Amino acid sequence: MNAQDRPASHAEVRDHGPVMPVADAHVDVLYRLWREGLDPASEHLQAGVTRLRRGGVRTQVYALFVFPHLSHGEQLHAVLRQVDLFYSRVCADGQVAPVRSQREWDAARGSGKICGLLSLEGGGCLGGDTGVLRMLHQLGVRGLGLTWNPANDLADGCREPRNAGLTEAGRRIVREMERLGMWIDLAHLGDAGVRDILALTDGPVMASHANARAVHDHPRNLTDDVIREIIRRRGWMGLTFEASFVADPEIAKLDDVFAHLDHLLDLGAEDAVGLGSDFDGTSHPLPGLAAADDYLGFAALVVQRYGETVARKLLHQNLERFLLRHLPAV
Ligand SMILES: [Zn+2]
Repeated sequence: MNAQDRPASHAEVRDHGPVMPVADAHVDVLYRLWREGLDPASEHLQAGVTRLRRGGVRTQVYALFVFPHLSHGEQLHAVLRQVDLFYSRVCADGQVAPVRSQREWDAARGSGKICGLLSLEGGGCLGGDTGVLRMLHQLGVRGLGLTWNPANDLADGCREPRNAGLTEAGRRIVREMERLGMWIDLAHLGDAGVRDILALTDGPVMASHANARAVHDHPRNLTDDVIREIIRRRGWMGLTFEASFVADPEIAKLDDVFAHLDHLLDLGAEDAVGLGSDFDGTSHPLPGLAAADDYLGFAALVVQRYGETVARKLLHQNLERFLLRHLPAV
């Protein structure tokens, strides 16, 4: 059945199975497993494995997140505990396969498992040490955003009024990430830090979960200039559904996500945009996109609105292509 011929309403779509597979660049499931001791399939999670399956998610990047007020050592301990939960719990029941290479990607896809990848949200746990970065890379971490909202010893985050950009340690970490082939995540970074990274590297960069600032003026969203640069470099950015990044959180609705998407497509992002939900990391869930199983209805709307070819790019192809380019062959 052609996806464009499929019914669009939520109830009807449920009867017919997923319209189209989905790839998502950011969830905070591991943080909640660590803090709350939940089961990876728990319905209390917005992106537990059962909901991922129901929503048609076939590629999921799992963030390693720790609040940055902790010491380097405490942050590193928390990150390592979350890495362990990924392998020992999330991947244990055989529905999610850990993907650290193109070979593992192909094997996971061939067996019908969800491709699970690891990225680090905030580099405070590194203590500026490229050796710690290399060890996390050995453990399967394939992407990194230097900061969360405040400053750390690598750079200033988007909520740091100083807006000072990268430190020398931050520059060292970025250079080592480039050498290792890790993807550089601009989400949460302050504007000066984004500018510094774009000056430091010619390579593709991504923003795992951020929207367009021209549509909703919020420091977590990206300016048109940065979005154009991401497109020019064959990078990628993921629309995110935290209501306060979409619109006024009191009244944000699904249509507002499409306002961001329409704007990005107008800028020429057809091959550079996808999804980075921030499920299990949001304080204001968006009605209609509040959990991974909502992807079922959302995917149908995307197909209806943009047609099957563009929808395929937005829902999974663009992100999967970007991730695959960064994975080592074996
Ligand atoms: Zn985040």
